[in-house]
Amino acid sequence: MTGGDVEVAIVGAGIVGLAAAAALARRGRSVVVLERREAIARETTSRSSEVVHAGLYYPPGSLKATLCRLGREALYARCERLRLPHRRLGKLVVATRQEEVSPLEALARRGAENGAPGLALVSGREAARIEPAVRAVAALISPATGIVDAHALATSYLAEAEAHGAVLALRTEVVGIDAGKGGFRVEVTGAEGARTTLSCVGLVNAAGLAADRVAAIAGVDVDARGLRLHPCKGDYFSLAPGAALRLSHLVYPIPERAGLGIHATLDLAGRIRFGPDAEYVSSLRYDVDATKAEAFADAVGRYLAPIDARRLVPDTAGIRPKLAGPGEDFRDFVIREESEDGLPGLVNLVGIESPGLTAAHAIGERVADLLSAL
Ligand SMILES: Cc1cc2nc3c(=O)[nH]c(=O)nc-3n(C[C@H](O)[C@H](O)[C@H](O)COP(=O)(O)OP(=O)(O)OC[C@H]3O[C@@H](n4cnc5c(N)ncnc54)[C@H](O)[C@@H]3O)c2cc1C
Repeated sequence: MTGGDVEVAIVGAGIVGLAAAAALARRGRSVVVLERREAIARETTSRSSEVVHAGLYYPPGSLKATLCRLGREALYARCERLRLPHRRLGKLVVATRQEEVSPLEALARRGAENGAPGLALVSGREAARIEPAVRAVAALISPATGIVDAHALATSYLAEAEAHGAVLALRTEVVGIDAGKGGFRVEVTGAEGARTTLSCVGLVNAAGLAADRVAAIAGVDVDARGLRLHPCKGDYFSLAPGAALRLSHLVYPIPERAGLGIHATLDLAGRIRFGPDAEYVSSLRYDVDATKAEAFADAVGRYLAPIDARRLVPDTAGIRPKLAGPGEDFRDFVIREESEDGLPGLVNLVGIESPGLTAAHAIGERVADLLSAL
């Protein structure tokens, strides 16, 4: 791209950067989206479970809880309006032992507080009636949980942003940011390694797994602010065609600390996938370790009819941009306009892990609100 002035530059064309671009462009801002890859949504957005979360898991009042609820409602309305592929399948969270019933009940109370509609606790027998493959002593039914085609959703935000004049620059990596009076000079490298700069008044850091790095090059002391990311990988296995298992709902175990537990999801074609597990990693690699098949079959076999590990095929992997390191407590999304840090007009979005896909629309609106005074 050539240098030029825009009101707002957005770093990253994942679901969050694109939802923010649409929200800002809809409000009449001139917007450019800078994306280092050759296409949109090539990183975390294309590597998720594509589940529309109801909001069971997050502390009430947290950004994750609030933006999940707002985002879910907006997402379903958008999918219906634009006829984007999605299904409200509903999900079961299952307690497989008596000791898990109390955590399940706590999840039901938290979900209700977070505005997840229609939650119902049912017996194991009722759970098996609803989803015959389930083995449980009790289950929490969440009818508002669903699945969505994340790529179609991302594409719809790009189309909306472009219809309002936004520009997408692919193969354009942000490598330098100079904050000056009244705005930023952003240095980017293009496809042939050529460097160029553009100036903007607002700058949105929606760089996903690189959001801590982008914040740092903008001059934020990420370690002092606790914004260093701890990438946490999740592998998926899919069920080989011809396996006997049939599911019509998503099925989740009681959540773990770093993830939601290896769950059973369906995609829009009805294909069953299991995952993701949770493993902190030091490099961003997406290969799936085939030797985990046995452990996956064991984990899933605790709440579903037994699965032969030989039927499990390594599938995709995704990496969570987590603010919480191994063993650390809950960390919320960081969505902050940085005037207090001496960088007015910079909005950092850091730690946008799950439910970031569900919440993306609401995050985009929040970003546009934060920049409304520009
Ligand atoms: C395994 C897994 C399962 C998940 N499941 C769910 C789920 O079921 N439901 C749900 O709601 N959420 C889920 N999530 C979370 C959800 O996928 C993410 O919150 C969401 O996709 C984040 O989107 P993003 O736009 O912030 O990041 P990304 O999609 O990673 O986009 C960031 C973009 O920034 C670009 N970028 C980075 N640095 C630069 C730079 N310097 N210059 C230019 N571009 C740059 C990257 O190339 C990338 O395209 C899951 C996440 C994982 C890892």
